Amino acid sequence: MLNTLYDDREAESILRVLYEDTLDIDFYFLASDPNYFMSDLLSELLYQRFNRLMKNEPVQYVTGKSYFYGRAFFVDESVLIPRNETEEMVSKILSIEILSEQPLKILDIGTGSGCIPVTLSLERPNWQVSACDISRKALDIATRNSRDLSAKVTFLQDDILNPRAFSPENLFDVIISNPPYVTEEEKVLIKHNVLDYEPAAALFVPDDDPLKFYRAIGSFCKNHLKSSGRLYLEINERFGDGVASLFSDMFEKVEIISDLHNKQRFAFCSSYSLCR
Ligand code: GLN
Repeated sequence: MLNTLYDDREAESILRVLYEDTLDIDFYFLASDPNYFMSDLLSELLYQRFNRLMKNEPVQYVTGKSYFYGRAFFVDESVLIPRNETEEMVSKILSIEILSEQPLKILDIGTGSGCIPVTLSLERPNWQVSACDISRKALDIATRNSRDLSAKVTFLQDDILNPRAFSPENLFDVIISNPPYVTEEEKVLIKHNVLDYEPAAALFVPDDDPLKFYRAIGSFCKNHLKSSGRLYLEINERFGDGVASLFSDMFEKVEIISDLHNKQRFAFCSSYSLCR
C-alpha cells in the first residue's frame, strides 16, 4: 500500500523503520516468524502510525527520530529532517578543522533540530559550540537533543535577518549555516511529504531574492567572525556562482564544493583577513 506513495525499495525501508521502531524487533526476524505475538496496544500503535505514513507524513516525524552522524535526533514538524548533504558538510568540516589545536569557537546559524552543533560538540568536546534559530520551538527541540545526547551547546534565539542576541565582543573562529535556500518556483519539484509537513520557514526563499540569508550571514560575519575565521555554508545547487561572487569580496578564498550526487552544494570561505 505504501508503494502507492513511494517506490518499492523506499516503501520497504520505511516499513522496516516503522516496525523496528514501534516493536523494537528486527524486521526480517519479524517477517520470518509467523507466531510473533503482538499486544493490542502495540498493534493499535502500529496501525495509527501506518495511517500517518499513508497521509504522506515522513517516517522520521512518525517515529520522532532521525539519524545524523550515527546518532538519533528527536524531530517533529517544527524542525527540518536532517539531510545527508548536511551530514556530508559536517564530516567535511570535521576533517578540515582537524588541525586546529586551540579550542575553536563555533556558531551554527539556523540550527533547527541542532544536529550540526550537537554533532560537532560530541565529536570535538573541547570546541565551544553555540547555535541560534529564530524559532523557539526549534530551539526547544535542539536543546532537548543536546541534553539527551549529553552534548554541550549554548543556544540563543535570534533572527539572522535582524540579529540582536550577539554582543560585538562575541567573535567566532567558525560560522556554519544551512539556511533556507529553496526558491518558491522550485516548489513544484518538491514531494508532498516535504511540502505538507516540513517547516516552510526553514526551506523557502523568494524567487526575487534567493540569497537573502547568505547576505545576512555575510554582514553578520563582518561583526562576529575572527579575521582568521572560516565560513561553511550549504547552498542551493543552482546558486554556486551567485554565492561565490557574494562572498569573494569578503574572503580571499571561496570554494564551491559538490556533494555525493555531484551537485554544487557547499560554499567554504576562508582567509577573511582581506576586509579587516
Ligand atoms: N536540502 C533541503 C531540501 O532539499 C533544503 C534545505 C534548505 O533549504 N536549507 O529540501
